[in-house]
Amino acid sequence: MPPANGLHATNNFPELTGRLCPAPCESACVLGINQPAVTIKRIEQTIADEAFANGWIEPELPGRISGKTVAVVGSGPAGLAAAQQLTRAGHTVAVFERDDRIGGLLRYGIPDFKLEKEVLDARLRQMTAEGTKFRPGVAIGRDISWTELGRGTTPSSSRPDRPCRASCPFPGGMPTASTSRWTTSCRPTGWSPVTRSPTRSRQQAST
Ligand SMILES: Cc1cc2nc3c(=O)[nH]c(=O)nc-3n(C[C@H](O)[C@H](O)[C@H](O)COP(=O)(O)OP(=O)(O)OC[C@H]3O[C@@H](n4cnc5c(N)ncnc54)[C@H](O)[C@@H]3O)c2cc1C
Ligand code: SF4
Repeated sequence: MPPANGLHATNNFPELTGRLCPAPCESACVLGINQPAVTIKRIEQTIADEAFANGWIEPELPGRISGKTVAVVGSGPAGLAAAQQLTRAGHTVAVFERDDRIGGLLRYGIPDFKLEKEVLDARLRQMTAEGTKFRPGVAIGRDISWTELGRGTTPSSSRPDRPCRASCPFPGGMPTASTSRWTTSCRPTGWSPVTRSPTRSRQQAST
């Protein structure tokens, strides 16, 4: 199994943990009893960086579309990992982020010397190609109520100042109902089920 596939079998973002994780695995490494521990964190980052540099990190497209829509609130590493898994499972996923850019503390907390933002952006490009929709600048509870989010609609009467497109994860899409905002009935133009074979799936990769 290629090393990058092995890493991604259990970790969505090894390029991030390879830079940011405090590496408790190394202090637990049995080699550390009488020798320097295996430099797991450094190996992890190197494999991930090499995979990106060589174009081995490709979109992993779902083999089928489930027809279900999921809203992920918050675009930090937790939200991004959940969104990537759910998108790959075939769900239509929109990530809502109140900040103006995607990434949470990866973007606006952790300084560049620990995490160059191009590393984050490269992963976001893969996620976008996989089909995850990103909606920065939308605060759930302010721009869209939790109730509306649960229903999957934003009644236009509640936000007369906010046109459909502003809160829609599919800008340029085609709402099929007047109240539709981000549900499956609001599809991007040209939306079609994925037809090409997915790249090696997580399950395949781990076998
Ligand atoms: C300076 C700094 C350095 C750090 N360095 C490290 C490190 O080296 N290693 C490490 O492991 N960890 C580090 N951390 C911690 C790490 O960044 C966090 O543990 C991690 O980002 C938490 O991820 P998260 O997805 O849970 O939340 P966050 O990254 O906080 O993301 C949550 C996102 O949700 C959005 N949001 C919240 N409510 C709403 C809403 N109602 N509507 C829309 N959007 C909403 C927020 O705007 C935010 O962008 C550091 C943190 C800081 C501040
Ligand atoms: S550095 Fe070690 S503990 Fe941290 S994510 Fe990698 S393997 Fe896990």
